[in-house]
Amino acid sequence: MYLTAADVPPLAAALGLDEEAFIERYTELTPDRRGLRLAGAPDAPCLFLAGDRCGVYAARPRQCRTYPEGWRTAQPCPGVSPPASARA
Ligand code: SF4
Repeated sequence: MYLTAADVPPLAAALGLDEEAFIERYTELTPDRRGLRLAGAPDAPCLFLAGDRCGVYAARPRQCRTYPEGWRTAQPCPGVSPPASARA
């Protein structure tokens, strides 16, 4: 999951971290080393995915908020949809 500079402050705040700590703990360089993406999760599509819910939904990255724009996989993260409790 690629991150924009604008994604970092809300994600850091949602996790109770300053931006530097968030970047250190939860991100890695993109393969071209020009940006950041969320660090990989060993057993899930995303380290913030809990079941089928996004653990940082209100602060999720732009790429998640604008799905399917920018996604290269046919299978989206199930967390990109609103939590069932938020659906009408
Ligand atoms: S919507 Fe999915 S990919 Fe995006 S941050 Fe949440 S759990 Fe991760």
